[in-house]
Amino acid sequence: MKSHEAPTAICCICTRLWFAEKVKQFKQSTYFEQRVIGLCVKYYENKFPSTKSATLFICHTCDSYLLKGKTPPQATANNMQICDSDPVFISLNTLEQQLISMFIPFEKIVTLPRSKQCGMQGPVVCVPSDINRTTNILPVPSGESKIVPVYLKRRLIYRGHSNYKEVDTVKLNAALRKLKIENPIYKDIEINRNWNDVVDPELLRCKNEGVDLETNCDGLPKEQPGGEQSDILIPGNALDSCLQPVDLFNELSVEDVESISVAPGEGKRPVSIFHEPLVEAKSFPSMFPNGKHTYHAERDVRISRCDYYKARIFSADNRFAANTNYIFFAQYAYECEKLFSSISINLRKGSDACKINRTMLTNPEYLKTMLKSDQGFKFFEPVRGSPEFWKKTMLNLFATLRNLGLPTFFVTLTSAELSRWTCHLGAILKQQGDFRNDSDILNMDYKEKCEVLKSNPVTAVQMFYHRVDLFF
Ligand SMILES: [Zn+2]
Repeated sequence: MKSHEAPTAICCICTRLWFAEKVKQFKQSTYFEQRVIGLCVKYYENKFPSTKSATLFICHTCDSYLLKGKTPPQATANNMQICDSDPVFISLNTLEQQLISMFIPFEKIVTLPRSKQCGMQGPVVCVPSDINRTTNILPVPSGESKIVPVYLKRRLIYRGHSNYKEVDTVKLNAALRKLKIENPIYKDIEINRNWNDVVDPELLRCKNEGVDLETNCDGLPKEQPGGEQSDILIPGNALDSCLQPVDLFNELSVEDVESISVAPGEGKRPVSIFHEPLVEAKSFPSMFPNGKHTYHAERDVRISRCDYYKARIFSADNRFAANTNYIFFAQYAYECEKLFSSISINLRKGSDACKINRTMLTNPEYLKTMLKSDQGFKFFEPVRGSPEFWKKTMLNLFATLRNLGLPTFFVTLTSAELSRWTCHLGAILKQQGDFRNDSDILNMDYKEKCEVLKSNPVTAVQMFYHRVDLFF
């Protein structure tokens, strides 16, 4: 069944993930740009070693550029590589990622009522963060995992918070140290001096590899002091009794551990996400651990913001697709840029465009008439969901009706991945190395299904649009 297929084919030039029918077999001899192709294929084979002897594929976008002898803007050789991420960064939760950022992108993300998916309200505000201040407030990581519930606030005096999660200070320390070594932007940042030399590197390695702390790094139990091999530790419940709360950690954290409030951006002036060239690397250090290959990086071929974010979000390396904060940041930056570009040509189009001058724009009467006739809001047209956008959509619908006549039936489509389409959840789980069968997926509870969907909303949307394509 074609509708059950997941996007699995990777373009060897841009490393985006595609459905099988959207790519074709790659034949190197048909193209001119051999230098670029050589670099891309080499990067692809290093990044995805399991596909080394398999057939190579190329997407139609890259194919059309290369046939014309041009370098595709999204080609990895055009400074669009994604550097390998250290396990330390992969294991960080959203708050930990924010705490190690030099800029915190404040986004108001709300849970939508029915699907429990995330939605954003209001603008994204990037505020410089004082990492030293945060590390001074948080407790010194001791030899074992030190987990504290942390509230991230805009100002400490505010009662509301922007994010609340449990923070592992051991992981935070390891991530900051790694950044200081690998990322030139982090070279000069200061970290609480008491945090130095407190982490046992072997312990950290065990944590990163998911090995139980009671076992050594080879996954074998530690030798008991008694000498003889005694009882082998069997992983199990932390408590002896069955009378445990559903969410044990939360229960413990509320009762036993005091929450800490941090406001690393308090008193700082927000920065523009358009004029600060390192905004992406400073806001998402776990996505760009070496601070390179961001949107503002120098490139041989210019890439538009839209193409850049598409290449990132649809990449076979799903770190961008899995990060809701990054997706909303990208959407906001893209929409704002579209808005700014349409502001500059606003009022310059149409029959009386040439008549516009400064005197008219400083005349309150003229401005009033302009706003009354909706001319002043026209630049909102490219922003999805704005009144001007819907006005344009309505006019397009009327034009279609005029050409094709009255519709005979309406179709309303809703995605059924939570109740019937197990292949959607299966595709996301497969990307995470979880090969469950259909009946196991159907038996998952509602909350777990929502969590899987939230872990990669991009694949979920791709699968739905693929079905709609097949339907029509
Ligand atoms: Zn491609």
